[in-house]
Amino acid sequence: MRIFEPHIHMTSRTTDDYEAMAAAGVQALVEPAFWLGQPRSSAGSFVDYFNALVGWERYRAAQFGIAHHCTIALNPKEANDPYFRADVMALLPRYLAKDGVVGVGETGYDSITPAEDELLAEHLALAIEFDLPVLVHTPHRDKLAGTRRTLDVVRESGLAPERVLIDHNNELTAKLVLDQGVWAGFSIYPDTKVDERRMVLIAQELGTEKVIVNSAADWGRSDPLKVAKTAEAMLAAQIPQPEVEKLIWDNPVTFFAQSGRLELDATKNSELSQGNSILRGER
Ligand SMILES: [Zn+2]
Repeated sequence: MRIFEPHIHMTSRTTDDYEAMAAAGVQALVEPAFWLGQPRSSAGSFVDYFNALVGWERYRAAQFGIAHHCTIALNPKEANDPYFRADVMALLPRYLAKDGVVGVGETGYDSITPAEDELLAEHLALAIEFDLPVLVHTPHRDKLAGTRRTLDVVRESGLAPERVLIDHNNELTAKLVLDQGVWAGFSIYPDTKVDERRMVLIAQELGTEKVIVNSAADWGRSDPLKVAKTAEAMLAAQIPQPEVEKLIWDNPVTFFAQSGRLELDATKNSELSQGNSILRGER
């Protein structure tokens, strides 16, 4: 079955991962801009990172036949940095206009601070301005409160709920999200939070409408094959194959196609990259 991986940080993964993902059926992915683990010391570091997301990483994925897209934002953790916050926000419009950028994200709450409040609202305003969908991260602590607050800010923003994907849900938060007409993402981790078995139960209870599954693999302990493993667990639990395909392909494609910039043919990226891979995508 073909897989669209809607949330994975390939910058921190190896070519072995790309190879295994391609073998497992991954044909396209979205890499959201995020925190690098090590706090950045200046806005210039974001320029290099964003350039790598729209250029180099896209080219690297194409070598394995995988169509790479990204979302661009100032991540919630570094939204609290008082020194370069404004400079990074001023950079975003340049990137949000590029090919391969299929959304604003990941934005949202980490520690639920006033600075995060402000920046989430700014990111949602950018999504309206650039006519892009938004990927919203929810905090790992105080998840329920963070999700409620996120939904309030989305409502106030005036952004259509179907253009918002709230990620890292659990059984408690997903219903709130879906009830508001917002897409609900689930990150399947190796040993914490939602695993494949729990995801099967969630899909049986909530159905697959506006539900999205991802591995959220990064530099921490994570597994880039979790979407494939979740699909296998669902088939083993007698969830019909068309439902599983909807979850791992149709839904993320429908959501990110709202950007008008999905390119599911990876060979296009590999040809484009033969010149300057950094400038590729500029309009
Ligand atoms: Zn992430």
